[in-house]
Amino acid sequence: MGRLICEKHGEQSFFETCEHHYVDIINGVKSEVYTIQILNLKICTNCYNTYHFGEISKLNIEEMLSTSEAGKNEKLVTEKYNSIGRKGFCSECYLELTS
Ligand SMILES: [Zn+2]
Ligand SMILES: [Zn+2]
Repeated sequence: MGRLICEKHGEQSFFETCEHHYVDIINGVKSEVYTIQILNLKICTNCYNTYHFGEISKLNIEEMLSTSEAGKNEKLVTEKYNSIGRKGFCSECYLELTS
């Protein structure tokens, strides 16, 4: 998990969200969200379906790199990651905004 400097919380761990889920959080909208563990990424239902994130939602780093499919999986993951608009989110802020 990466770190960022949050204006409110200082140095914090963070993850990324798709731009839609980001807007929902900011507006206090409780929407369904999918967590893509391998990318430390939270995305909306729409992005999940549009970019077929189901294919990689069960993968973890160790598994991904230990199979003969490693190169293929890595490419798949990178492709999906690059196809959505992303925003970084301080994990403390996220907790505050979603609890
Ligand atoms: Zn989205
Ligand atoms: Zn924060």
